[in-house]
Amino acid sequence: MTDRDTIFALSTAPGRSGVAVIRISGPGSRAALAALGGPADPRARRAVVVDLRSPDGGEAIDRALVLTFAKPHSFTGEDVAELHIHGGPAVVRAALEALAGVAGLRPAEPGEFTRRAFENGKLDLSEVEGLADLIAAETEAQRRQALRQMRGALSALTEAWRQRLLGALAHVEAAIDFPDEDLPPDAWSRAKGLVAQLKDDISQYLSQNPAGERLRDGYQIAIVGAPNVGKSSLLNALARRDVAIVAATAGTTRDVIEVHLDLGGYPVILVDTAGLRDGAGGMKDGRDGLGPDAIGAVEAEGMRRARVRAADADLKLVVADLRGWPDLDPATAALLDGSAVLVLNKRDLAPPPQAADHRGRPVFAISARDGTGLGALLDHLRDVVVRDLGVSGSTPSLTRLRHRHALEACRDGLVRALAADEVALAAEDLRLAVRALGRITGRVDVEDLLDVIFKEFCIGK
Ligand code: GDP
Repeated sequence: MTDRDTIFALSTAPGRSGVAVIRISGPGSRAALAALGGPADPRARRAVVVDLRSPDGGEAIDRALVLTFAKPHSFTGEDVAELHIHGGPAVVRAALEALAGVAGLRPAEPGEFTRRAFENGKLDLSEVEGLADLIAAETEAQRRQALRQMRGALSALTEAWRQRLLGALAHVEAAIDFPDEDLPPDAWSRAKGLVAQLKDDISQYLSQNPAGERLRDGYQIAIVGAPNVGKSSLLNALARRDVAIVAATAGTTRDVIEVHLDLGGYPVILVDTAGLRDGAGGMKDGRDGLGPDAIGAVEAEGMRRARVRAADADLKLVVADLRGWPDLDPATAALLDGSAVLVLNKRDLAPPPQAADHRGRPVFAISARDGTGLGALLDHLRDVVVRDLGVSGSTPSLTRLRHRHALEACRDGLVRALAADEVALAAEDLRLAVRALGRITGRVDVEDLLDVIFKEFCIGK
């Protein structure tokens, strides 16, 4: 690909910093470096100090550390030069302007370096996604998962499955194409055994549901309950205590507030569904305030959205006022399903409850005002999140819906192939299954299939 543009961009975050790195990639990167006063024939991977100048023979720009990489041994697979310059805005601007003045160079599009890495086979699609996730990772668990994917764990898993499937398909193709050859008569039944085993493995993997998507997106905990029980106070208290707030943003709809937390290395999105209560009148005492007759239209809509949000959450903190305990209003009681943790708030105003559980579910008596009991509640939440999201060290996770869809499409193809009446139909379903797997890494390739056929059967010799 020697006719490609040479691209350049600032690869570090804009702003003021000790060092900023500008990356140049493409066939003209060495010439660009020379035009800025660098060595005409630099040794790859050897750092040199260069007084950078603008290409029209002009002014000095900065004293820089320069690194070059010769294709294909670079991130993009092309010739690459990196300018490590001082990270002041004027220095960066002058260096970028100088590069823009070099013939054949243009600024890179977003993601273009990585795109070239993919096109040149340096990274496959899932590794590219891992890299994107690594850059976006906010917590330790996210970082570990992203790094694993960037280093090819998911690719290796799907590639191993694909190889097994190609092996089975090779038997089937041979049975179709060369029925009279000296082949084992049971080629199709042998292939069926392989396909059935693979279908079981993939189905099991899918059903174990590695929590990769949730780890990537954040574990959702919704705070629900009647008005005035202290939901917002609890959110604020939790966010202040022992946890790093990653970001506090108003939700996409006006009626939910989200706080992003790092809980033991896991990303948690705490959602306050208290919602539009301020927009409706007459809701002073919350304990039995969820009845529709007491609620205005705006608030009713807020409640509806809050319920939807709560239903979508991975876990619900159902908050009630300890002063009413052990009575619960029907609306609150209805929220106590399998994913609920009961929190009795305002412990500073009432004696703690006798029992530590409610129908087998742990009960936490807390005061959002003075912080009593919050430590125990947080410990419990951390345990639950680690249990639900704790991804095993060895099994790569599916971190995107498209991975799951591709795997499901593959499994469905295998199921159809096993049920097919004719071997030719089975072969078609198996080919679709191979393609579905190939979509995960972005490799969809029939040449491989031919390779396997020839290797296994030595046809035509
Ligand atoms: P929400 O409507 O459920 O979000 O409730 P708020 O968090 O807005 O709290 C309602 C009222 O209860 C406010 O006046 C809070 O100051 C008060 N409140 C919240 N938590 C506590 C608590 O633990 N103890 C006491 N004494 N008051 C609290």
